[in-house]
Amino acid sequence: MNKKKIICPECRTYTGYIIRKEKRKYIIRDQEYYFDITVAYCEKCGEEIEVPGLLDLQMKEVDEQYRKKENIVFIDEIEKLMTLYDIGKAPLSLGLGFGEITITRYLKGQVPSKEYSDIIKNALESPKYMLNKLIENKNKIAANAFEKAEKCALNLEKMFNISSKMLSTISYIFEESLEITPLALQKILYFIQGIYLALYDVPLFDEDCYAWVHGPVYNSVYNLFKEFKYNPIDDDRFMILKNRFEELTEQERNVIQLVLNSFGNYSGKVLEEITHQEDPWINSRNGYSFLEPSDNLIEKNQIQLYFKKIDKEYSLRNIKEINRHINEQLELKNK
Ligand SMILES: [Zn+2]
Repeated sequence: MNKKKIICPECRTYTGYIIRKEKRKYIIRDQEYYFDITVAYCEKCGEEIEVPGLLDLQMKEVDEQYRKKENIVFIDEIEKLMTLYDIGKAPLSLGLGFGEITITRYLKGQVPSKEYSDIIKNALESPKYMLNKLIENKNKIAANAFEKAEKCALNLEKMFNISSKMLSTISYIFEESLEITPLALQKILYFIQGIYLALYDVPLFDEDCYAWVHGPVYNSVYNLFKEFKYNPIDDDRFMILKNRFEELTEQERNVIQLVLNSFGNYSGKVLEEITHQEDPWINSRNGYSFLEPSDNLIEKNQIQLYFKKIDKEYSLRNIKEINRHINEQLELKNK
């Protein structure tokens, strides 16, 4: 709100006004609350006055602070639930066991009861809970709406089989990449784990990878994104990952960033070819012909040994050195 001049409704002078925040008392559902509210005072007579836009702002402030205080779901969280489950207002409302227009009213600003708010929050936090609610109310919603939401729930559940560090790592990669295919993501994860093991002697994430035909693959991550095939991963459902990367330490972020700034400049196919030249993948596929499927584990210590060897030849803390290593790998490939 810019400070403009108005005609004061109290003293009738054309004058400026002062804006400040004050604690104000409100009674909501028979409870007393004190909220920080923006108020305006006339510069001339000092009376509290109404200025354009102020009432809307005050209502927003009350709404936000009330929801925060009572732990009531926000409108954008309800919208997020609709996106996550690819479901409309009415089917969502019925699917949760509410009346048909309840969610519509919430989206328009009505504050949900604590009971209904908790149901929405639980649905946001647990795909299993959401799926159970949907099944409970299956006969109330259209079959195709149910099937779409069910598919989303099953897919989201897969995410909960993945370690928290892995999800945070993927979240960081998504945040920093314009687009990434499942193949490129797999290889980037592998190089992150390799360099992290070489530098710090502990894995960044617990998952193990397997020596598939197209190089090392983390199968739980594969299952999550397989529907994208060779296309970039692009789906609103994965906004559930947004901001998860904030849980990463400085050290973890540095390694991920290093890999994105080096290996991240190449396509998934090129990265795959690099891994095909490396000991961990080759050794784990002992006895298999080049295109023969295998599901052999690539031991973390094999990855660690290999990247420690690379770290001795090229310092893996240094982006120029990593790029020199990549260039030599690519030259090797073209021989
Ligand atoms: Zn005045």
